[in-house]
Amino acid sequence: MKSISLLGATGSIGRQTIDVIRQHPEEFSLAAFSAGRNIDETRKLIQSFQPRLVSVALKEDADRLKTEFPSVQILHGEEGLVEVAIFRSADILVNAVLGSVGLYPTLQAIAAGKKVAIANKETLVTAGHLVMAAAKKNNVDLLPVDSEHSAIFQCLQGEKEKNIERLILTASGGSFRDRTREELKNVTVEEALNHPNWSMGAKITIDSATMMNKGLEVIEAHWLFDLPYEQIDVILHRESIIHSMVEFHDSSVIAQLGTPDMRIPIQYALTYPDRLPLPDAKRLSLAEAGKLHFQPVDKRRFRMLALAYEAGQAGGTMPTVLNAANEAAVAAFLDGKMTFLQIDEMVERALSEHKPLANPDLETIQYADKEARNFVHSLL
Ligand code: NDP
Ligand code: MG
Repeated sequence: MKSISLLGATGSIGRQTIDVIRQHPEEFSLAAFSAGRNIDETRKLIQSFQPRLVSVALKEDADRLKTEFPSVQILHGEEGLVEVAIFRSADILVNAVLGSVGLYPTLQAIAAGKKVAIANKETLVTAGHLVMAAAKKNNVDLLPVDSEHSAIFQCLQGEKEKNIERLILTASGGSFRDRTREELKNVTVEEALNHPNWSMGAKITIDSATMMNKGLEVIEAHWLFDLPYEQIDVILHRESIIHSMVEFHDSSVIAQLGTPDMRIPIQYALTYPDRLPLPDAKRLSLAEAGKLHFQPVDKRRFRMLALAYEAGQAGGTMPTVLNAANEAAVAAFLDGKMTFLQIDEMVERALSEHKPLANPDLETIQYADKEARNFVHSLL
């Protein structure tokens, strides 16, 4: 029996993690979890799993839950996230919280020797060097949940890193893949949220439409697989059936395939190096799919991908600024405070105004993150 602590239990990845736990009651239990502001869902989760520790975003919600569930320890805020992340009886932390708020709890979990299944890509983008160094120092496994990285991780089982020629991340292209930049001027939030292949949280769905999601994933891959950016490529693949590929020096390419269902990579991170059935997942039928399509990504059309490569290659605080400006800009777009194309513009301006610092420590990262958010807010 594996005991799990889960950050972001009420989100898209969080709910799918809960679904995986429910499908395997003999294998997994939920010891502790965090939610944000969705208290109805939090209440239901407490009732069905009876965890020992729960954390929510706001103090008033925590106080209310304490009176309803006196036997459960209820915390709130960032301190609560950390306590869930390091919960003593958990064997593995699933980090499915949204945004760079996940960084500090991840570092604390690693310091406490917890294995981490990481969906929260913003954490690796904003401070990949700190997270990877801490994981190495504490001899802790970081297991990818993002489908592309899970695919690469699976393709690399039994392989030697020295034999890798390049990683090839596949990208669906998001909601606007068939539109020109000109046609993006007046798109609405609702249209941007309509992803063709995946049902995900709002922020990552917008990131897919701007292609920032793939940019963040390139940086995530750089850290997880310790490869230079020149060895990480992206290809458009409309069907999201090949989840990513690895090319080796001998020209052989290994790919991982499956239907687009995030529960599969979530479960793999939990069962690794073993596998379990996932009875209600749809099996892949290539005969039914018929054709798979591929095309190169135009980095002028998808400006954010180019910016992410530039920020990643520049290193230091640049990826922190890329991520924080993007988080702030996407939130403003979702709030109706800026247009879709202004998201790229804001990120580009934040990067060009920033004076990068090399090899930043946690405090410097947190400062650069805050400054980049303030910069975007000042332009609204
Ligand atoms: P959602 O927006 O659906 O969920 C986010 C979760 O985090 C919710 O539980 C939310 O709580 C909580 N949360 C948000 N902000 C805070 C905060 N400031 N403090 C505490 N809790 C907070 O996101 P997703 O599940 O889509 O994504 C989560 C992470 O996984 C992201 O990093 C994303 O990039 C990554 N990912 C997601 C994929 C997907 O298919 N969705 C695929 C691959 C990666 P509440 O709702 O209660 O307010
Ligand atoms: Mg992905």
